[in-house]
Amino acid sequence: MCNQHTNTTPTRVLSVANAKAPFETTTIERRALRPDDVLIDIKFSGICHSDIHSAFDEWGGGMFPMVPGHEIAGVVEAVGQNVTKYAVGDRVGVGCFVDSCGECEYCLAGDEQYCTKGVVQTYNSLDYDGEQTYGGYSQKIVVKEGFVVRIPDALEMDVASPLLCAGITTYSPLKHWNVGPGKKVAIVGMGGLGHVAIQFAHAMGAEVTVLSRSMNKESEALSFGADHYFATSNEETFKELAGRFDVILNTVSANLEVDAYLSLLRIDGTLVNVGAPAEPDQYSVFSLIMGRRSIAGSLVGGIKETQEMLNFAAEHKIAPQIEVINASQVDEAYERVLKSDVRYRFVIDVATL
Ligand code: NAP
Ligand code: ZN
Repeated sequence: MCNQHTNTTPTRVLSVANAKAPFETTTIERRALRPDDVLIDIKFSGICHSDIHSAFDEWGGGMFPMVPGHEIAGVVEAVGQNVTKYAVGDRVGVGCFVDSCGECEYCLAGDEQYCTKGVVQTYNSLDYDGEQTYGGYSQKIVVKEGFVVRIPDALEMDVASPLLCAGITTYSPLKHWNVGPGKKVAIVGMGGLGHVAIQFAHAMGAEVTVLSRSMNKESEALSFGADHYFATSNEETFKELAGRFDVILNTVSANLEVDAYLSLLRIDGTLVNVGAPAEPDQYSVFSLIMGRRSIAGSLVGGIKETQEMLNFAAEHKIAPQIEVINASQVDEAYERVLKSDVRYRFVIDVATL
């Protein structure tokens, strides 16, 4: 282990002082390396809509000052003395969480995100020592090696970063609900998550339909592998697609008319929510009863599955379409995400921080 890292590491970050405050550049200390820690020199950090929900404190419980960011791609700068999986210079990623108990049935099954002790999120969370966590809008981060994944050589670092959240959050439920050959899947919302979901569902062999508010993104949806594309602003869409889908993956950050979407499911179909609006949804139980349908939700994915997803993306040439921005442009990027004016993920070039 590098001697210089037996102490804490000062690192510049982008932080917000309170909900909706503008970003400012400040300095925090990353902890001294423990034996199983990796110090990562962050190169790129994606902007997820969850960062906005959190920085605006829309979900409540926000811890300020906050440094968002859970789509982290970087290079290992130093390793603790017991680290075996990674070496200095390795290209690595960190997603939405950085610790879990490691002992409960869900951790043992590789579903650390559902840890019964409570997973430690990459930011806006307290770690098991009670210290607040700070995320990836940052030059450096220290993470336990078990919560670090390897970025395959075939993936560029900037393009890889959104896979650490948008990628795994869509890959995991598509696999869990057996999306593949012979299955009809709809992806609702074509933003950061949605545009990656189309690529995964197509690569898994399913028939993919995109449901977006307008027809504006049709040609790009087809280029990502969609077979069909419909605008939800057109009422005819709901008549034409009634009873069509085995699975609907909802990636929308706002509340939907849930009954209308349930009517698009086949008997036994499932509406899987990954979009996380702050307000509760409303629906009629009859929309479920009359078709033995289910409503479900899914939270990111485990570490092993995240590595599997990255390898799958490399193998199938799945790549987020990104717009790289400077650290000074994050406030503006948030405004643009809120207007759905992003094609399709902003990624911060951390060298500009
Ligand atoms: P995003 O890039 O803003 O994409 C959301 C998309 O939803 C938009 O592009 C838009 O698609 C659609 N949309 C937005 N506002 C809408 C409205 N009022 N009515 C209907 N459609 C609307 O966001 P993202 O980063 O993909 O994240 C999406 C959601 O997933 C967020 O709520 C985020 O917090 C959540 N999330 C959950 C998890 C999890 O583990 N479950 C992980 C990551 C993110 P169209 O323009 O195509 O209509
Ligand atoms: Zn996210």
